[in-house]
Amino acid sequence: MIEPQIIIIGAGAAGIAAASRLLEKGIHNVLILEAKDRIGGRIFTQKFGDNIVELGAQWCHGEQNNVVYNLAAPHNLLESSFNINDPTKHIFVNAAGEVASREESVEILRIYHKILDDAGDTNHKPGTSLGEYFTHKFYEEIKGHPLITSQKAEQILNWMHKYQNSIECSDTWFDVSATKLKDYWSCEGDPVLNWKTNGYCKVFDLLTKNYPGSRARLPVYEKILLNMEISSIEYTSKDYVEVSTSNGSKFKATSVIFTPSLGVLKEQHMNLFKPTLSSSKIKAIKGLSIGVANKIFLEFPHQWWPKNTGALSFMWSDNQKKEFIEKYGQEKSWLCDVFEFFTVDHQPRLLSGWLVGPNAKYVETLDDQKVMNEFHFILDKFLGHVYDIPRPQTIIRSKWFSDKHFRGSYTFRSMLTERLAVDYKDLMEPIKGNKNTPMILFAGEATHEHYYSTVHGAVESGYREADRLIDFYT
Ligand SMILES: Cc1cc2nc3c(=O)[nH]c(=O)nc-3n(C[C@H](O)[C@H](O)[C@H](O)COP(=O)(O)OP(=O)(O)OC[C@H]3O[C@@H](n4cnc5c(N)ncnc54)[C@H](O)[C@@H]3O)c2cc1C
Repeated sequence: MIEPQIIIIGAGAAGIAAASRLLEKGIHNVLILEAKDRIGGRIFTQKFGDNIVELGAQWCHGEQNNVVYNLAAPHNLLESSFNINDPTKHIFVNAAGEVASREESVEILRIYHKILDDAGDTNHKPGTSLGEYFTHKFYEEIKGHPLITSQKAEQILNWMHKYQNSIECSDTWFDVSATKLKDYWSCEGDPVLNWKTNGYCKVFDLLTKNYPGSRARLPVYEKILLNMEISSIEYTSKDYVEVSTSNGSKFKATSVIFTPSLGVLKEQHMNLFKPTLSSSKIKAIKGLSIGVANKIFLEFPHQWWPKNTGALSFMWSDNQKKEFIEKYGQEKSWLCDVFEFFTVDHQPRLLSGWLVGPNAKYVETLDDQKVMNEFHFILDKFLGHVYDIPRPQTIIRSKWFSDKHFRGSYTFRSMLTERLAVDYKDLMEPIKGNKNTPMILFAGEATHEHYYSTVHGAVESGYREADRLIDFYT
């Protein structure tokens, strides 16, 4: 075997998985260059409150054919976020402070899941958006419904829209391709498995066999150089790739696995790659989509919501939104996009608020104190007449858009993806050098055929590209 020199760009799930596979198969000349001062990428476990929080990936989604589940389950590292799974543990309330009955809440979630399940199984007319399909089906579903009356329909549909944007990471569900929903495969089994008190970062010890501690441990961590932001990837020679960093270091490799996000590619591919990428790859980078979802964790002096609550869901009718903006001014309009507070496993005093889309980006520009005050204000507006809500003490939150090493949270297949007829293959296709050598390979969640937007997709994509090199070099 010729001993190749391999550089992996990015120490997220895809990069660490790729390195682990290469080392396991006897390819040792591996270097991982990571821009940040930490590993993990969009897995970002942080100490906060009484335990940890996840600013990025939180749940292992499903059990069957899930590489992450297969790694973690034998060590009993996962548990169900059962309050979130249980529709009776969700509290729905609207901007007038009207709290839905338990029966109504269960129905809202049942209808939401039914329409979505059907959407995945339907043959949609090309050019149909998820928003069009969902809206139509929703009104069909609630016709004559005893609990979901026409007065309540709009606010419920508005909530479903925002919630679905957080699943897709879209600005609006009218930008999500209904036809392409079939591309995404859910793994059977519990969809929300948390990592108890370890956090998702434990997956890196599993990938590298540092856990549970055995002689099989792979020296992946030793191969990582942090604070190495790649500024150019030159592949003119066709025999080797030259990788430069913004602090002036240069490295040569026979093959490079590139794992940064689609957001990074969208912003930087023209400057990063020399020569520029092929037109089909550029079209894929343009056509595949990534949005912004952020989490805002608030720590309260005590738990003021009912024990075992899964989530507090906020609903707005169009009119309530208009009146709110008239009363409080345009400056507070972003608060109308606050739609969900999840409770946090093993953190009885924490709520995790979600924001998606343009206002998620906007809120990244506000300071912590302001965000904390405004969240308290909106919680008080919706639920202050039911509970005595104390001021939150501290806040921690993600800023996935303004961070130039991400420029977004996770990917989805949009109307543009459909229109441009691009898919994961166009993004994944390696760039070949002399003698058909895979010179630049592309991994990362966006390059997965079915599990895009997830950690298990990112891990599989890293394995896939490592296997491509192993096959070639051995
Ligand atoms: C808010 C949020 C919630 C999520 N929730 C879940 C969930 O519950 N379950 C789930 O399965 N998935 C979830 N995801 C998605 C999941 O986190 C990602 O799909 C996965 O972590 C992506 O891994 P990756 O290796 O493809 O990319 P990344 O994690 O982005 O890794 C790429 C790495 O490249 C580095 N990099 C970028 N630019 C450069 C450069 N120029 N030079 C060198 N290095 C660079 C980055 O710093 C990063 O470390 C969530 C994501 C977010 C943001």
